[in-house]
Amino acid sequence: MRFGDNQRRMHVPLVDLQAQFQLVRGEVMHAIEDVFDSMHLFLGPQLHAFEEEFAAYCGAGSCVGVANGTDALHLALRAAGIGRGDEVVTVAHTFFATAEAIVMAGATPVFVDVDPETYLMDVSQVEARLTPRTRAVIPVHLYGQMVDMDPLMDVARRHNLVVIEDAAEAHGAEYRGRRAGSVGHLGCFSFYYSKNLGAYGESGAVTTSDPDLAQRLRLLRDHGSVERYQHEEFGFNSRMDEIQAAVLRIKLRYLDEWNIQRQQHAEAYAQLLADGPLRLPCVAPERNHIWYVYVVATPERDVLRRKLADADVGTGVHFPVPIHLQPASKSLGYVAGDLPNTERVAREVLSLPMYAELRPEQIEWVVKAIRST
Ligand SMILES: *Cc1c(COP(=O)(O)O)cnc(C)c1O
Repeated sequence: MRFGDNQRRMHVPLVDLQAQFQLVRGEVMHAIEDVFDSMHLFLGPQLHAFEEEFAAYCGAGSCVGVANGTDALHLALRAAGIGRGDEVVTVAHTFFATAEAIVMAGATPVFVDVDPETYLMDVSQVEARLTPRTRAVIPVHLYGQMVDMDPLMDVARRHNLVVIEDAAEAHGAEYRGRRAGSVGHLGCFSFYYSKNLGAYGESGAVTTSDPDLAQRLRLLRDHGSVERYQHEEFGFNSRMDEIQAAVLRIKLRYLDEWNIQRQQHAEAYAQLLADGPLRLPCVAPERNHIWYVYVVATPERDVLRRKLADADVGTGVHFPVPIHLQPASKSLGYVAGDLPNTERVAREVLSLPMYAELRPEQIEWVVKAIRST
């Protein structure tokens, strides 16, 4: 790409975790030191405070911290009593862990296609995929936007299904004024370092307003035990540690501000790319999108990606191979063509740089690189 001599070359990464760290560095280092000074490393005051604060943030009755987002989904399924012989309806256009958690629980994933505009679960297809074995649905609030939950909850009520929100990319996202993690029976979050709310290590959480489910989750994450060396059942080792909880409590106070900054960047991209050839992200009505990633689409995706790499612009593909066509899914029996929207989206999507600290001149550089021939 050639620019005028007075145009300074710029590097724009897909995400810039250093920029965020510099902002919270003092508070984070102090909080980590406090945890070390107390030597209370698990199931302590930081976790309990974070669980209360995050439940309140989501508008859910309770929150149970676990080791990662994949475990959040796995333990949510187990807590709901889902296992061998059961089917769980979800999408194939998501991170692999959504389906993996279903398999970890012993159940079978059943995939429906995505909506061609929003790339989210096409809720109108769910009912046709139900069988007498279907026990649950996992809508995935992909990219920071919530699935059309009201019609899905209706289907679930009529067929007695458990709804487990995969909210791993949707911390603070809203649907008709309700936050992710407060609409389904259970909500699952990941705090993987690059998410809108990211820890400095692995962690995740499950939200629910059902006290019995919350109690079962607390058992399952800690070896089936409420009291030390007293095990009610065979569970798992999946606790969120105190250091991650302390970090997340600090970052949670910034989350709304960071999400608003992401929204401003998304508006800038939308304005600057409006008359171009790319398909821009579609925000469905009555949603508050929190832009975990900013995803454009074009049949020329790979050409565009190379062009942006030449201009030192980082991009990502979320996700290049749909789950039903992964080698791991062979035994599920899907073939190419089964989920046409999902397969087209996987070929065409490209994620542009997106993080709260992104600067206007960086956005302009990305847009200029897209427009250059
Ligand atoms: C990140 C993510 C997960 C898994 O979270 P981990 O904390 O990495 O285990 C699950 N589902 C979706 C949609 C994700 O983006």
